[in-house]
Amino acid sequence: MSGGNTFLGMPAFPQNAAAAVQDSQLRFNLRKATHTIRGKRASVVAELPDWAELRTAGKEIKDHTLRNLERYLLQLEEAVTAAGGHVHWAADADEANRIVADLVKATGETTVVKVKSMATQEIGLNEALAEQGISAYETDLAELIVQLGDDWPSHILVPAIHRNRSEIREIFQEKMASYGRAAPEGLTDEPRALAEAARLHLRERFLSTKVAISGANFMIAETGTLVVLESEGNGRMCLTLPETLISVVGIEKLLPTWQDLEVFLQLLPRSSTGERMNPYTSTWTGAVEGQKFHLVLLDNGRTRVLADEVGRQALRCIRCSACLNVCPVYERAGGHAYGSVYPGPIGAILTPQLRGMSSELDASLPYASTLCGACFEACPVAIDIPEVLVHLRGKARHPRAERLGMRAAGWVLDRPARLAGAQRLSGRLRRFVPGHLPGPLSAWTDTRDIPDIPAESFRGWWNRTDGGAR
Ligand code: SF4
Repeated sequence: MSGGNTFLGMPAFPQNAAAAVQDSQLRFNLRKATHTIRGKRASVVAELPDWAELRTAGKEIKDHTLRNLERYLLQLEEAVTAAGGHVHWAADADEANRIVADLVKATGETTVVKVKSMATQEIGLNEALAEQGISAYETDLAELIVQLGDDWPSHILVPAIHRNRSEIREIFQEKMASYGRAAPEGLTDEPRALAEAARLHLRERFLSTKVAISGANFMIAETGTLVVLESEGNGRMCLTLPETLISVVGIEKLLPTWQDLEVFLQLLPRSSTGERMNPYTSTWTGAVEGQKFHLVLLDNGRTRVLADEVGRQALRCIRCSACLNVCPVYERAGGHAYGSVYPGPIGAILTPQLRGMSSELDASLPYASTLCGACFEACPVAIDIPEVLVHLRGKARHPRAERLGMRAAGWVLDRPARLAGAQRLSGRLRRFVPGHLPGPLSAWTDTRDIPDIPAESFRGWWNRTDGGAR
C-alpha cells in the first residue's frame, strides 16, 4: 500500500540511485514519459506572451499569502464554518491521522475512497486507517496502479510513471479481484482497455462507499472554497457521491481571493500536463445538502519551513512536477530513490525541511542534484531550488572524511606557495594515483572518475614556455 511512512528506513539517496540506474526498463519508462510531458509543456508555455508576468504574479501571490498565513487561515476557518463545514487543526501526522480515523469511525463505515492527495501520503494515512480496521481505496488511476501493485509513488503528477502498459496489465489481472471488481477476461495492454478496466472497477467502488477523503490544490480564504484540478473525472465522483467528505490539506495551499486563482489556473495545467486547461476543476464551499464536510488543516513541519528565510520559498510549490520532468538526476534515478512522496528537485528541498535532516536519507537529499538550474527555469512560481539546495547543504552534517578533505584543501589553497608545491608533488606522483580511492574516501570515487592529473600545472607551463612562445 502506498504511503509516506513506508519510505522510512530507506538507505541514503546515493545507494538508492546507484541501484535504480541499473534498471534499464525504469530508465526507458522515465525518459519516454518525462520527455513527452516536457515537450508538451514547452510548446504551450511558449504560446503565452505574458508567461513571465504570470510566473511573477504566482510567486508574489504565494509570498504574500505565506507572509500573512495566520490571518488568511483564520479567515478560511471562519468562511468554511459559516458555510456549514467543520475545520480541524492538525499539528503533525499523528494528530491528522487520529482526527481522520475518528471522523470515519463516527460514520460507522469501514471503507473510504480517496482522490489524489499527497498530504495524506505524506502522513501515511492509509496505513494509519488500516491499523484502525478502515480500508482506504485510491481512485486516481495512477494511484490505483500504485496501490494494487503494493508499490510507492514515484512522480508528483503521475505516481506510476515508472510502470509501462504491460506491467499495468499484469497488476490489474493479478490484483484487482482482491480489491473489488476483477479485471475483465482477456485484458490487453491497450490504453483504452486498461482505462475501461479501471473505470468498471472504480465505478463499483464509488457507488458503494459513503466516506471520501480528498486533498485540494488550492483553498480560497475569502469564501472558504476548496479547489481540485484533475484529468479523469474520478475526483468529481469522489467529491460528490459520498455522504461524508474529509479533506486533508497542507496549510500552504491557501490563496487569499478567487481572483488569485485565475493566475494558478493558467500556471498549473500548462506546467504539469502541458495542457491549456485541465479537464476537470471542482470547487466546493462548506457542506452541501446531504453531505457532511470536514477540513483537516495540516501543519506537519510547514511552520518550521516558514521560519527559514531561504528555505520557505519551497512552500510556494503548487506540485506541478515541471521540475521533475526537466531534472537529469530524476530522469536517471527515478522517484523512489528520494525516499519520499515528494521526489525530484522539489522533494530534495521540501522533504529534508519537513522531516528534518537527522536521518542519513534526509541529509543526503540536498546533494541529489547537479545544480544545473533547469528546475528553477521550469518552476511556474520561480522557486530558486538550487539556492535552497546549497543552503541546505550548509546545514547537513558532512561525512568525516569529507570534512577532513575540505580542511586539507583549505590549508593548501590558502597560500600560493603551498598550492604550487602540491601541484608539483601530484605531477610527480600522478602515475601512482589509483582509479578508486580506499577507505572512507571511496565514497567520492564510487560515483566519480578521478580526472587525469597533468604532468605540470598551467602556471608552470606558462612560465616554462613564456606563454607558449617557446
Ligand atoms: S517546485 Fe516548482 S516546478 Fe517543482 S513541482 Fe513545485 S511548483 Fe512545480
